[in-house]
Amino acid sequence: MQAYNHYIGGEWVKPTGNGYIDSKNPFDGQPWVQIARGTAEDADAAVDAAHAAFRNPAWAGLTPTQRGKLLARLADLIERDAQHLAELETRDNGKLFAEMHAQTRYIPEWFRYFGGLADKIQGAVIPLDKKGYFNFTRREPLGVIVAITPWNSPLLLLTWKLAPLLAAGNTVVIKPSEHTSVSTLELARLFDEAGFPPGVVNVVTGFGAEVGQRLVTHPKVSKIAFTGSDANGKLIYQTAAASLKKVSLELGGKSPNIVFEDADFDQAINGVLSGIFAASGQTCIAGSRLLVQRSIYKRFLERLVERATTARLGNPMQPDTQVGPVTTEVQLAKVLDYIEIGKAEGAVPLCGGKRARGNGIDDGWFVEPTIFAEVDNSMRIAQEEIFGPVLSAIPFDTQDDAIRIANDSIYGLGAGVWTQNIKRAFALSEAIESGMVWVNTYRAVSFMSPFGGYKQSGIGRESGIEAIDEYLQTKSVWIAAGATVDNPFIIR
Ligand code: NAD
Repeated sequence: MQAYNHYIGGEWVKPTGNGYIDSKNPFDGQPWVQIARGTAEDADAAVDAAHAAFRNPAWAGLTPTQRGKLLARLADLIERDAQHLAELETRDNGKLFAEMHAQTRYIPEWFRYFGGLADKIQGAVIPLDKKGYFNFTRREPLGVIVAITPWNSPLLLLTWKLAPLLAAGNTVVIKPSEHTSVSTLELARLFDEAGFPPGVVNVVTGFGAEVGQRLVTHPKVSKIAFTGSDANGKLIYQTAAASLKKVSLELGGKSPNIVFEDADFDQAINGVLSGIFAASGQTCIAGSRLLVQRSIYKRFLERLVERATTARLGNPMQPDTQVGPVTTEVQLAKVLDYIEIGKAEGAVPLCGGKRARGNGIDDGWFVEPTIFAEVDNSMRIAQEEIFGPVLSAIPFDTQDDAIRIANDSIYGLGAGVWTQNIKRAFALSEAIESGMVWVNTYRAVSFMSPFGGYKQSGIGRESGIEAIDEYLQTKSVWIAAGATVDNPFIIR
């Protein structure tokens, strides 16, 4: 079996502990490659390489335009290898090849967009209230960034960090999920080919509590950019506080998908299905709470159940498969556990409800698409992120009820609104407490549009122009242009 080492300072480096971890294919439960099990020493070596590269003229001395060109070159290489990278992602995380290929083909646009922004990072000349000074600001990179990513969309979520942080002139140590590190390691080769100086991008693999923990406490690291579960996000936030690192967090959600009686019925059905069963519900923006107006509630759920029970589960590499496995065995157990919790809470299971078997998927970690009706928003299956193909349907009467239920959550990542009433669409887009609101669509993202959470769904934004601010700091420069230091004992 192929064994991957760390990528540090432009070299492939064996783990100091000599340990490797099996990476398993969720479709058959079998190990298919090994990745290095990183240690604290490995983390230190990667941070040292990134720290040296940050100060090295080979990177620090590039003009912003040259940096931008490197990003554009990288984009071309990713485009060339999009199919290969998508195949690796599907083997590692079990999501549909069609979905992963769509992602790897789209990823280059982030590098082009932020590459284009690299030489448009501008400071300002401040029209001071004082005579005799010239005051201007410089927008400078932070230093070494640690990017920690989850298993559900490894390269896309990494790209949302990498493109802006590199455009801003930082260097990085990446710690991908221990379940899905391979595509990130293969991506690392492309940085070399694109001409990035060694040490600008480093990858260490292994467990969060081992190599990850050290990265989060390392004194030479300026910022942690994390995507993952809210429990680990909170832990990392606390740990990073000890050395006052900057932190951005993209965490979980319990996003409401709200269907009004005046919605385009078939479009809403498709939108709700795509919100929860695409990627087997393993997306942070899963529309896992379905709010349906009572007048259409019964009819809507009947159609939804019909579609959910006929969805094709199977090999995620096959083009006609609609639902793949969940990514890990632990996740399988967690999802099945939540299904039992829902039953115990008194929610009514309309379909699914167990591990899926048959049709050649017995060895895979498959869960039947599951829909619970008569869910009360206070139930755990309405409040906690399940991260699997489990939908909790909640009826509502009025627009105000819908808003109240939608906002009754510690999370605030995404929300869907299905209505043909434009006034209602505007009212809801204003009233809902979440980072993204999709009206008559769901799960749409772009490199140009900000993505991030309200409330406990996160801190900071990825994508869009403002994402680059997450990786910059401002220096104010004062030059005396006539002003003199007369009285040294008072502030100027
Ligand atoms: P996770 O929190 O278990 O792991 C994420 C990463 O953090 C992994 O690389 C892991 O090794 C690392 N890690 C864990 N503990 C650590 C520690 N103490 N120090 C340093 N690193 C540590 O998340 P997951 O299960 O891989 O991913 C699923 C979660 O990610 C879900 O909650 C989902 O909602 C969230 N997610 C959020 C977004 C978003 O953009 N908001 C996108 C995708 C996924």
